[in-house]
Amino acid sequence: MTSSRQHHGRARRWRAHAVRTAAVLATITMLALDPAAASARPADPPYPIGGAIRVEYDETGGFDFFGNATNPESDAARGGRWQAFEKNSSIYWHPLVTNGHAHQIGGSIRDKWGQLGWENGPLKYPTSREVPAGKPGRFNNFEGGAIYWSGNTGAHNIWGAIYGKWGEYNWENGQLGFPASDEFATRNNGAGQHMEGGEIYFSPRTGVHPVWGAIRDQWVKAGWENGRYGYPTTDEVDGGNTSNNTPTGYEGKCQSFEGGIITWNFALPLYDKDFSSVSTNPTPQLTIFDHSKYKSEVSNAITLWNSKGRVKVVTTGDRQPIIHVFDENRADVSYVGLYTKNADIRLNSHYMDTYPPDVNKNTVLHEMGHALGLRHSCKDNIMFARVTSQLQFGDIDNRSYQAMWGAS
Ligand SMILES: [Zn+2]
Repeated sequence: MTSSRQHHGRARRWRAHAVRTAAVLATITMLALDPAAASARPADPPYPIGGAIRVEYDETGGFDFFGNATNPESDAARGGRWQAFEKNSSIYWHPLVTNGHAHQIGGSIRDKWGQLGWENGPLKYPTSREVPAGKPGRFNNFEGGAIYWSGNTGAHNIWGAIYGKWGEYNWENGQLGFPASDEFATRNNGAGQHMEGGEIYFSPRTGVHPVWGAIRDQWVKAGWENGRYGYPTTDEVDGGNTSNNTPTGYEGKCQSFEGGIITWNFALPLYDKDFSSVSTNPTPQLTIFDHSKYKSEVSNAITLWNSKGRVKVVTTGDRQPIIHVFDENRADVSYVGLYTKNADIRLNSHYMDTYPPDVNKNTVLHEMGHALGLRHSCKDNIMFARVTSQLQFGDIDNRSYQAMWGAS
């Protein structure tokens, strides 16, 4: 099995040979030498174009697009065939790729594919011809990923987990734009790729996440994945509110990294022991008097917060400080739940009686989080300022709890 790089080497030699032959032929014609010498010249280009390669040649634009073939149809890896053409394009075919439809590939995209080992490299065979991107630029898809080209960025491969994450953000049409580098290797078997609108970083332990905007700038300034923050462990998510007491809007952004959380335009702190109603003598304890009718929601919240281990949440009627949990029916306020330090958690039945059980569980978990000292954080966390149906602790919930009360 030979590599396609070698095939292209042969193509260049054939072209050189063809030029030499033509030069000799011109000399012969001028000298009008004997006809036997002229008839001895080898079969020159154009080479025949047939089969599936001919189908793609005709579909893509025929002679006007490709010009003549510059080599005979030739073997490619694993039983495929290929042929190159005058106007900076080739066509590749494999019987098992896209049901045996051949595909055109040319220009900078073909050059990049060649650098990566042609069909023997990680991209394998093209599965599309070169087509326009969603904004000015071009791409080919391959069995193992894609190559995107734009005037600003040049041609770059994109594949694997990074390609998948890029797709989640609407490929070149999203915030990330075109790939601005090839994928490169990073520490701990990770990988990174520069994009027009940010970065995408992967490591086996942290997964794949984009980093962009002001949070990217802070991360880069701190030394990328090798600095204090390390790899991103979440995508950027919406913040909650700019004040911990007025849960309106989605201001700000947050992103978690191995070494900490980077926020943008977001009210800090994310936690504050002094905001809690936890008694630390003799051991950390949050004591609740439950007057509410939302018994299963309250007991769910106690179970989940107790699973974190350090602060014991207990229900009683006679220990101080006490958080009274009770219900209100108020249409005149926007809060579903409200926490007041060393006083109460109010559950607003005006809303809760119309919400699904998981949403109400989320509300009680959230208010109890406040009573444990957690401030509002970001989406995908229990301490997100907006009511959701989330019942799992998020990264910021966990870190905030640990920072105050230690690991469970
Ligand atoms: Zn809250």
